[in-house]
Amino acid sequence: MSRSSHAIINLSSVQSNLQKLIALTNGAKIIAVVKADAYGNGAVEVAKLLEDKVDLLAVAFLDEALALRNAGINKTILILQGAHHADDFDQGENNQFIWIMHSYWQLDAYREYLSRSKMPPCAWIKFDTGMHRLGFPINDFNRVIDDYGDIIDENSAIVTHLARSDEPDQSHVNMQIASFLKAIEKTEFPLCIANSATSIRFPHAHKNYVRLGIAMYGSTPFEAADNPIELTPVMSLHSQIIALRTIPKGDTVGYGGTWRAPKESVIATVAIGYGDGYPRHAPTGTPAWCNNQIIPLVGRVSMDMLTFDVSGLDDPQIGDLVELWGNKLAINDVAEHIGTIGYELMTRVSKRIPRHYIYPGSPENKGNK
Ligand SMILES: *Cc1c(COP(=O)(O)O)cnc(C)c1O
Repeated sequence: MSRSSHAIINLSSVQSNLQKLIALTNGAKIIAVVKADAYGNGAVEVAKLLEDKVDLLAVAFLDEALALRNAGINKTILILQGAHHADDFDQGENNQFIWIMHSYWQLDAYREYLSRSKMPPCAWIKFDTGMHRLGFPINDFNRVIDDYGDIIDENSAIVTHLARSDEPDQSHVNMQIASFLKAIEKTEFPLCIANSATSIRFPHAHKNYVRLGIAMYGSTPFEAADNPIELTPVMSLHSQIIALRTIPKGDTVGYGGTWRAPKESVIATVAIGYGDGYPRHAPTGTPAWCNNQIIPLVGRVSMDMLTFDVSGLDDPQIGDLVELWGNKLAINDVAEHIGTIGYELMTRVSKRIPRHYIYPGSPENKGNK
């Protein structure tokens, strides 16, 4: 292997995070969300790991679901955005997909498809209770259920999504849940409300199914301080120092000369950049980890390289490992410096970065504790 940049994906952490979440959501059925290549961690590997440990897998759209089928994943897959086109239903035929319905055109197209295909319906219905992104207006609940009784049956879960479950203020969440529960009051459909943040913070929203994404991948979806469960990072993004130099006080580093050395400084060049998914707008001061210390990014992010001020390290060497985030450095801490969230950093890591998997039970786990 010539280049040293890679992501270590610890699947045993996925498993242990999931176990904690299962214990917390006592009894709710588990939907493991593996969209966006399992948040950059590898959808096929994660789906293989979880297939027999969860009730459903979920992806955003049809192509993601078909990719899992083509890779030999047999678990029922929930398609969160539902059909994008009327012929999605034909393309997904005989695949054990559950379609979310959030628009009338989808229900009409599905009805038309069912009349041709003679397949049994397999639809969940999404309602908008205040996120205002997808879903029928919650006030249309009775209308949808009455008008589409041929598509909706007792297995059709009724779904909503909360906009602000990661914030300290709970009023918007409570408003959304209250309007949802009021509308569905006298019905007996299974219910599905909670993502990771909601599952952790709002036990009364667990209901029949929970949709778990980011927490399985070991990043807390809100301020870590108020998280009652300890999550273990799954992805560690690693590179190494490929060059070292000492520059005099007053010289600048990188494109545009945006950082000027306040004193004589040792600069390490690290072999990863925005072409690998490390955000270009990461500012000077964004932390990485090297030789048991935090080192600050200095100057602009390039396509293939980063520069760090390693003046504080004892004896930096070419070849030294640098962790951009992961076991030693929480992805959320890095995200905060960059003005983003762990979700985005994880999902952006590009195809250029090889993923190395640590499997549950493998001896490498011991070194990762
Ligand atoms: C992505 C997604 C989830 C998972 O959210 P996390 O915050 O990662 O747990 C849940 N529900 C829907 C509708 C989603 O799109």
